[in-house]
Amino acid sequence: MMEVCNCIEPQWPADELLMKYQYISDFFIAVAYFSIPLELIYFVKKSAVFPYRWVLVQFGAFIVLCGATHLINLWTFTTHSRTVALVMTTAKVLTAVVSCATALMLVHIIPDLLSVKTRELFLKNKAAELDREMGLIRTQEETGRHVRMLTHEIRSTLDRHTILKTTLVELGRTLALEECALWMPTRTGLELQLSYTLRQQHPVEYTVPIQLPVINQVFVTSRAVKISPNSPVARLRPVSGKYLLGEVVAVRVPLLHLSNFQINDWPELSTKRYALMVLMLPSDSARQWHVHELELVEVVADQVAVALSHAAILEESMRARDLLMEQNVALDIARREAETAIRARNDFLAVMNHEMRTPMHAIIALSSLLQETELTPEQRLMVETVLKSSSLLATLMNDVLDLSRLEDGSLQLELGTFNLHTLFREVLNLIKPIAVVKKLPITLNLAPDLPEFVVGDEKRLMQIILNIVGNAVKFSKQGSISVTALVTKSDNRAPPDFFVVPTGSHFYLRVKVKDLGAGINPQDIPKLFTKFAQTQSLATRSSGGSGLGLAISKRFVNLMEGNIWIESEGVGKGCTAIFDVKLGISNESKQSGIPKVPANPQHVNFAGLKVLVMDENGVSRMVTKGLLVHLGCEVATVSSSEECLRVVSHEHRVVFMDVCTPGVENYQIALRIHEKFTKRHQRPLLVALTGNTDKSTKERCMSFGLDGVLLKPVSLDNMRNVLSDLLEHRVLYEAM
Ligand code: ADP
Repeated sequence: MMEVCNCIEPQWPADELLMKYQYISDFFIAVAYFSIPLELIYFVKKSAVFPYRWVLVQFGAFIVLCGATHLINLWTFTTHSRTVALVMTTAKVLTAVVSCATALMLVHIIPDLLSVKTRELFLKNKAAELDREMGLIRTQEETGRHVRMLTHEIRSTLDRHTILKTTLVELGRTLALEECALWMPTRTGLELQLSYTLRQQHPVEYTVPIQLPVINQVFVTSRAVKISPNSPVARLRPVSGKYLLGEVVAVRVPLLHLSNFQINDWPELSTKRYALMVLMLPSDSARQWHVHELELVEVVADQVAVALSHAAILEESMRARDLLMEQNVALDIARREAETAIRARNDFLAVMNHEMRTPMHAIIALSSLLQETELTPEQRLMVETVLKSSSLLATLMNDVLDLSRLEDGSLQLELGTFNLHTLFREVLNLIKPIAVVKKLPITLNLAPDLPEFVVGDEKRLMQIILNIVGNAVKFSKQGSISVTALVTKSDNRAPPDFFVVPTGSHFYLRVKVKDLGAGINPQDIPKLFTKFAQTQSLATRSSGGSGLGLAISKRFVNLMEGNIWIESEGVGKGCTAIFDVKLGISNESKQSGIPKVPANPQHVNFAGLKVLVMDENGVSRMVTKGLLVHLGCEVATVSSSEECLRVVSHEHRVVFMDVCTPGVENYQIALRIHEKFTKRHQRPLLVALTGNTDKSTKERCMSFGLDGVLLKPVSLDNMRNVLSDLLEHRVLYEAM
């Protein structure tokens, strides 16, 4: 069952206590309402950025009116006059109007307060603050990062054009520049020239005087300087009135002291000079240069300077390398020219050698023939002098030729087995006649352990010994001469760089030639082994030597892996020439050398011996014939190889042929004669007569089947020996 509630409260008379509480509350409400506008006024005053001040005023009014309503209400608890009721009503109506207006206003304002613009303003201010705070940190960090990046880019090349171009491109990218340009000083140093730009590929020739105040202003400091966008160095963009020109900074780039490098296409950099780097921000923005950006520009300018100096060093080293290569090429050409000159000289020598031997042949042969005739003592003396002088000349020719061959390295030793003891005796036999005339006794000491048969170049060894023994005789007026030969033992008298290392098959021969003659000034000794060396001493200068003997001997000795030196205590105290040469030890004990002189050649009779002489040169032909006729031969002469081939018969025992004769290819004639005489015993002996001393002549003679070679000039004695050797079937090649 539902219980019906009696909801209607009974009429309640005004309670004293309740009224009292309401009264007090209204009072406090009114006080609070009046204090709030004061607090709002304080807030509005203190707050600089609050945008809606009038809203607050309206809100304040609304609160004040509410407060007033509550205050007037105090008088309405008891019976009150009509005025109070009227005031109360007015206050309530006003409160209602203002509160409604405020409510409506808030509806309108809130979205506005929430709008982007306001927030943006706040954020901007906040950002500006942050930017200021972070400024320092960012400067340091960014500078470091950009510099690292730029440095890497700049230094990744060592070509200065690339360095400068890269710098501009990287700076332009990093700082979002509109334009960036580099002005380099001109050669005269009086102007700056626009050399590189970011936008223009090939900047036009454009210069400005270096004395401009704006340039001076930049050059006096190492800092980046803000300059006017209208200054001449910044006027690179197409001028347009519509835009606001962007800010421009300029910085100097030191071109380091490079006077030592002498870079060709760079201005002389002996004094400190700068290039000018100009950087421009975009025109249509209000962007400004930040401190950290300026710092970055300064650091980059320094880095570019360092990179440029490295590039300069590289360029210099490349230039040095190119120079070196050029020098090498020049040296190579010079070397080739020198080789050509040496070849030309050798060719000349060979030709001269040959050409001179032909007249020499005539002189020596004819004077030796003349010697055999009836002569008055004066005539004999004259003929002997002619002969001696001629053989001296022939020796000189040999020396000069040997020397040139030694110098170009074409001279080689001709090794063979020979009797060493005999060699020494032969040398002494050759020297003795002069020594006897000069009353100089010569003694020869051969050590008992000196091998008899040895392997080496007999002719050259003989030449060395003859030369130094010859010198001893030549430069002595009295006293004796001793020649000693022994096997070299290691001793400390040899020069320190020379070591004697004998083996089972080799030994070192030491020869000492001591005289008591003119002697040599010790300071002259080192010069003696150079070409045409002669001491200043009068005693030796009067001897008329050529100064070639020791130079040639030294080279021969070197070829024989040995050493030669001279010892003398001074002028007038005699001297000792010593040399060591390496020789092979021969096991054969047979005599391989041919005896140079037959037992008694004068008595060999060639009467009736039929000989054919082929020589193109009339004088030479006549001279050779003269020698042979004098020796009793029956001589026929021909001037060409064809004629020779026609005339030659089995009656001829010997054919002397000048291998330079024109006609049938020089040596072919020998082959033809071989063909003509199929029977060996019928064929005449073939002997080449030549002025050529080179090895190839001898080799060719052998290969074309000649029986011997005879070197011009030929004396009567020579010819006599040759004929007797030939008839005894001795090989004549060694005669060369
Ligand atoms: P040449 O004897 O033809 O002048 P060398 O080359 O053989 O040439 O000698 C060079 C120089 O050395 C001689 O001119 C001479 O001054 C000096 N000389 C060589 N040997 C002797 C020596 N035994 N005594 C004095 N001086 C010598």
